[in-house]
Amino acid sequence: MTKIAVYPGSFDPVTNGHISIIKRALRVFDHLIVAVSQSDPKKPFFTIEERCDFIKSLDLKNVIVKPFDGLLVNFCKTENVQVMVRGLRAVSDFDYEFQLALANRRMDRDIETIFLMTDYKYSYLSSSLIKDMAKFKGNIEGLVPVHVNKALQERFS
Ligand code: ADP
Repeated sequence: MTKIAVYPGSFDPVTNGHISIIKRALRVFDHLIVAVSQSDPKKPFFTIEERCDFIKSLDLKNVIVKPFDGLLVNFCKTENVQVMVRGLRAVSDFDYEFQLALANRRMDRDIETIFLMTDYKYSYLSSSLIKDMAKFKGNIEGLVPVHVNKALQERFS
């Protein structure tokens, strides 16, 4: 049986921390659907198309990129997937992730959330930090893919 999971997030923009989670999830699952949230209360900096394209351009094998709107459990049901992957960076992520996982389980007991611990190299990395660094011309080389770095530089120029 093919093992498939959903990796949801805003990916605004995708960072090497996300990519590390994607690659490691693919050691456990045969296919991964990276689900990019469309309507985000965080008011995304990049459009849904841009955020999806940044991930698609990585050309990762066995990765499908799809936008989603509404409840994640409904998206999983539509895609016929029972497992969600989330990344944990620090203790600070735990509260939110715990709340989200329990809320999702309450809505659908058939869907499990599994967590992958960040690679220590990216433990401090978040999309918001990247945007702040890029805004003030900080060096973000090695923290995001080259095409994302270029897009950020263009947006802030
Ligand atoms: P959200 O807006 O839902 O938090 P993000 O796009 O920020 O979505 O992140 C998606 C998932 O990836 C979350 O589970 C988050 O904890 C995880 N993640 C983000 N950055 C990193 C990182 N540097 N290392 C490991 N996991 C990460």
